[in-house]
Amino acid sequence: MERVDTLIVGAGQAGLAMSEHLRLNGVDHLILEKDRIAERWRSARWDSLVMNGPAWHDRFPSMEFSDSGPDDFPGKESVAAYFEEFSRQISAPIRCGVEVLSVARDDDSFAVQTSEGNLLAKNVVAATGPFQIPVIPPVVPEDENIHQIHSYHYHNPEQLPDGGVLVVGAGSSGSQIADELLRAGRDVYLSVGPHDRPPRSYRGKDFVWWLGKLGKWQMKTPPAGREHVTIAVSGAYGGKTIDFRKFAERGMNLVGMTQNFESGALTFAPDLAENIREGDANYLSLLAEADDFIEANELEMPEEPGAKTIAPEPDCMTNPILSLDINKAGIKSIIWATGYIQDFSWLKVDAFDVDGKPSHEKGVSSEPGVYFLGLPWLSMRGSSFIWGVWEDAKYLASHIAERPR
Ligand SMILES: Cc1cc2nc3c(=O)[nH]c(=O)nc-3n(C[C@H](O)[C@H](O)[C@H](O)COP(=O)(O)OP(=O)(O)OC[C@H]3O[C@@H](n4cnc5c(N)ncnc54)[C@H](O)[C@@H]3O)c2cc1C
Repeated sequence: MERVDTLIVGAGQAGLAMSEHLRLNGVDHLILEKDRIAERWRSARWDSLVMNGPAWHDRFPSMEFSDSGPDDFPGKESVAAYFEEFSRQISAPIRCGVEVLSVARDDDSFAVQTSEGNLLAKNVVAATGPFQIPVIPPVVPEDENIHQIHSYHYHNPEQLPDGGVLVVGAGSSGSQIADELLRAGRDVYLSVGPHDRPPRSYRGKDFVWWLGKLGKWQMKTPPAGREHVTIAVSGAYGGKTIDFRKFAERGMNLVGMTQNFESGALTFAPDLAENIREGDANYLSLLAEADDFIEANELEMPEEPGAKTIAPEPDCMTNPILSLDINKAGIKSIIWATGYIQDFSWLKVDAFDVDGKPSHEKGVSSEPGVYFLGLPWLSMRGSSFIWGVWEDAKYLASHIAERPR
C-alpha cells in the first residue's frame, strides 16, 4: 500500500500554502484534490468576481500577481491562474481528480480511502475550505413558481429569468450581486441583516492596510455579540465602499431580514434601519480609530473629512417594507447569499466537539496527527484569507515536522 508522511486534502490556497511550508520543513507529502487546483475560485464564484482585497495584500508573500498591478483587484480567473503558477513554482506534489472518501485511524497512521485506491498517512491536513456547502434557509418552498439559487451558483444576470430579483444577505457576496443586477437594469430587492462595512479606503490607504495597522486581522476571536455579523466589502468597479443608502438612492429596494413566506407574500423583520445604522456606526468607528492611529503615530496622511458624511435616511428606512407579495412585486428569482456549512463526514476521527465542529488549537486537532487549515478564525480573523492561511500553514508545518516519526 502507498504510504505518505503527510496527506493534504484539497488544493486551494490552504493546501498549496501547506505544501510549501512542508517542503521548507523537509516533510514528504501529497495533495489530493477532487477537482482542479483552486477549483472554487474557478467554478464557485460569479463571472465578474474580483478579489475583495488588492493584489499587494491578497497574495502569498513569496509570489506577486504577474498580470495585475499591486492596487488592482484581480478577477477570479487571475486568482486561479496565480495558484496554478504557484503550484508549478514549488513543484507541489498534487494529484487532481482524486477525492478523499474517508480517513480513519489505523494504528499509528491513518487509513485513507480515495476514489483512486487506498493509502496510509502519518498525518492528515484537512484543507477542504472555509465555505463548502451552500445553505439556503427553508423559507420559500421549492415548488413555488420562483427561481431560487444560492450565490454559489450565481454566474451573471443573464442566467436569471426576466423580472425582479430578491437578494437575501448583504455581506460581500449579496451586496456585490445586488449591485451587479441593479446595473443590469433589474428591479432589485436586497434583504439586509447585521453587517460591518469598512471604508474601501481612508486617508490614502485601503481598509486592508488599516485592519493590519489596527491589529484587526490578528484578532483571535470575533468581538462579543458580533460572531454572526457579515462584512460587506467590494473590489468591483475599481473598489468602492459598500453604502446601502447609496444603493437605495440608485433605486434598490432595501428590506430587513427575510423571515417568512406565506400565501405568496414574504415578510421581513422591522430591523432594516437598525442594521444600516449599526453598519454606519461600524464604518465611522474605523475612521475614528484610523484618525487616532495617525495622531498617536504623528503620521502625515491627507485629511478626508467628506468620508464622515452619512447620507440622509432613505424612504425604505423610515417606511420599511414588512410584507411583499412576490407576484405583485414582479419578483421572479431569489438569490440566497446566506452562507455555507462545512462537511467533514469523510474525516472519521476524534477531532470534533459535541456539536460536530472541528476541535482544535490553531488548527492542531484533538486527534494527534490531524490538522485543520483555512477555516474562519482558525487562529485569527485573517485565517480564511489568502495571506492569513500562509501564516497558519507555517505554524502547522513546524508542528508536523516536530512530530515523532
Ligand atoms: C465569494 C467569495 C469571495 C472571496 N474573496 C476573497 C478575497 O478576495 N480574498 C481572500 O483572501 N479571500 C477571499 N475569499 C475567502 C477564501 O479566500 C476563499 O474561500 C478560498 O477559496 C479558501 O481557500 P481554501 O484553500 O481554504 O479552500 P477552497 O478554495 O474551498 O479549496 C478547498 C479544495 O478542497 C477540495 N476538496 C474538498 N473536499 C475534498 C475531498 N474530500 N477530497 C479532495 N479534495 C477535496 C475542493 O475541491 C477545493 O478545491 C472569498 C470567498 C468567497 C466565498
